[in-house]
Amino acid sequence: MKDHPFSAINPKPKGIGLLSGGLDSILAVRLLQKQGIEVIGLMIETGFTTDYKWRQLQEANRESIPEAVPLSRQLSEILNIEIVVTDISRSFFQMVLNPRFGYGKFVNPCIDCRILMLQSARELMLERKADFVFTGEVISQRPMTQFRSTLAQTEKDACLEGYLLRPLSAKLLEPTIPEKEGKIDRSRLEAIVGRSRSRQLELAKLWDLTGIAPAGGGNCQLISPEYSKRMRDLFNNKGKHHIHAEDSLLLGFGRHFRLSPYVKLVVSRNAQEHNLLLDKNKHFTLLEMPDITGAAALIDGETTELELHLAARILGRYSKAEANADIRFLLTRTDGSTIDFEEKAFPIDASELSNYLI
Ligand code: SF4
Repeated sequence: MKDHPFSAINPKPKGIGLLSGGLDSILAVRLLQKQGIEVIGLMIETGFTTDYKWRQLQEANRESIPEAVPLSRQLSEILNIEIVVTDISRSFFQMVLNPRFGYGKFVNPCIDCRILMLQSARELMLERKADFVFTGEVISQRPMTQFRSTLAQTEKDACLEGYLLRPLSAKLLEPTIPEKEGKIDRSRLEAIVGRSRSRQLELAKLWDLTGIAPAGGGNCQLISPEYSKRMRDLFNNKGKHHIHAEDSLLLGFGRHFRLSPYVKLVVSRNAQEHNLLLDKNKHFTLLEMPDITGAAALIDGETTELELHLAARILGRYSKAEANADIRFLLTRTDGSTIDFEEKAFPIDASELSNYLI
């Protein structure tokens, strides 16, 4: 981006801050507010956040889980700024399947993620006639996205060259155009580098911002080892072309068992997950034990008769049925057709079960 058409008309400089909810982006906002810059916050819903997961659980359990105050509202009150929430989950999901810059240690496509988020921030910058975009990034704090070369790459790919400020490390980076134009006082920005958080904690204490989570990445399921393992199982067995958003949503809930390359079983762990699985039976086959207290399960894929009995034995393990009793199972397919059958409650033992556990 060479010319920014709106840079001259703001009575006071205005920045769009990409907020993760972690301490660093909050400190970046405060640093700019301290020099009289107007800030609009932007939070991105990727569809992979733990907040998103929580909302799905809440929607399926309206009576037992009260609605939580959204993080965006909490931050808006702490920082006294407007916060815009943008949902990019559709494009994000497609990107997660085929990231241009690959994955990190888990299934986290952090570089592509930053580019998508910064592109959204750029759109908001143009829409709100702001002067620049800023983030809470710190040079060399995170292995994948915060090397100098990657910071430059994401800035370029998001078409924000010269208009992307990293206030916490700004003194160690090339001055941005608003700094050169005198809209931002560079001398009042920071020169933080690396993983030590001592300066951030000092600033948090100074500005009474203690008690805030250290890093917003903790809100992303793509860096969870368990979630990652389940996602890789889907890549390997279902194949990227056949994975839907509903598949990835389910990865955050229940116990997952791979019965064959074509069949997976997901068993609820508690009453709330039980209700969530019932909600998702439009997309997967539902297996229940209607006459007794116990878990419910979703089956992804067409089962053979043997696999169906295996699924019933696994599900029976998570019931209150006495050993050797007959358990009635009800299978409901996505087209509404049902199969009613009985299976002896010979619970599958732990070592056999572990062969299937993902
Ligand atoms: S941890 Fe998740 S939200 Fe954070 S940059 Fe990586 S993919 Fe994006």
